[in-house]
Amino acid sequence: MTIDVLKKYIHQQSNPNLGVYIHIPFCRVRCQFCAFYVQTFREKKVQAFLDGLDREIHLYGREIGLENIPVTSLYFGGGTPTMLSARQLVQVFDEINTWFDVTADAEISLEAHPGTVDQQSLHMLRSRGFNRLSIGAQSFDDQELLQLSGRSTRRTTQTAMEFARQAGFENISLDLMYGFPGHTADSWEQTLDATIALAPTHLSCYAFTVEEGSHLYDKVKHGTVCPPDEAVQARLAMLTGEYLKAAGYEQYEISNFCQSGFACRHNLRYWQGESYLGLGPSSQSFVSGVRFGNVADLDSYCLALIQKELPIDHLEALKTQEIQREQIVFGLRTMRGVLRDQVGYLSERDVGWARAFSGLKVQGLLVEEEGYVRLTEKGIQFADTVAVALI
Ligand code: SF4
Repeated sequence: MTIDVLKKYIHQQSNPNLGVYIHIPFCRVRCQFCAFYVQTFREKKVQAFLDGLDREIHLYGREIGLENIPVTSLYFGGGTPTMLSARQLVQVFDEINTWFDVTADAEISLEAHPGTVDQQSLHMLRSRGFNRLSIGAQSFDDQELLQLSGRSTRRTTQTAMEFARQAGFENISLDLMYGFPGHTADSWEQTLDATIALAPTHLSCYAFTVEEGSHLYDKVKHGTVCPPDEAVQARLAMLTGEYLKAAGYEQYEISNFCQSGFACRHNLRYWQGESYLGLGPSSQSFVSGVRFGNVADLDSYCLALIQKELPIDHLEALKTQEIQREQIVFGLRTMRGVLRDQVGYLSERDVGWARAFSGLKVQGLLVEEEGYVRLTEKGIQFADTVAVALI
């Protein structure tokens, strides 16, 4: 897509601030359950990617004119961003700092695989401005880790956590996964115990899913692997909430928990309908009410940028009511919910939507309290059903 086409849609004043997501599309190997756009790490591909990313950062900052919008969160995700060296990650960050207005108190998050960081790299990253680390722990059971990703151990995660603290990271999140085939409540409790013992400031606990596009999807489709048991997942989700609450963590979103004051600002942006720009292949953006996404192919991504074009392969300018609907659906993922006035406003203008909303209340999936609408406990369990009904 040419710069001029996108420019027509972007209005600086409709974005009081911005979050920037950077997709680093490399991993050591592809996990069976993964449906993200990633490829096996190869040095030659990395340099081409970094060159493309530099061009993309420059185009958005200078040519599209986003350089004056305060960027209050940066999120390096993937893939495994820490497959890049600390020096390369710092270079990308510096480049963004050059072409965007990153605020002094911005949240700068980095996803890290525990086996790809050491004391020296973390020290460099922390000293050059990264202030939040999200470690993909998945489990604290070595057998389960082997089953999930074929690598890493409980000890590797504990060591990464120690290195991170020594490097000065105070805001550390752990990603965990529950409800995969064969997972039990006993084993999940042991992982939660080991997690709590490390006292991370933030936890993301994701139910294991079989996503289309993953290796696992084909195996489940052909009956060679059992799908996850939904009843077990619902029990483990309930257990997670109770366990972490007792340990002092606040659940602020369906899958996310934090110590007071450590909610992930970048991810809150997605659920609160705020603007974000995605950089890198397959990344998604929502700016000025326009949703657009990059091509999920590294070679095409690099080629478009060499030709001074944006690597966007789809764009949708949402109508006002569509934006309002999305804001409510994403907002309901948070435990605070959405303002009752927001719901009332849309209900008055869309009778069909209002009917769907009332039906969910009658089913006990939504509740109105103190000026907000939020999911009930049952609603949290059936959050996907609620989303489908309201979108
Ligand atoms: S799950 Fe994470 S580590 Fe595994 S392939 Fe996907 S992005 Fe890479």
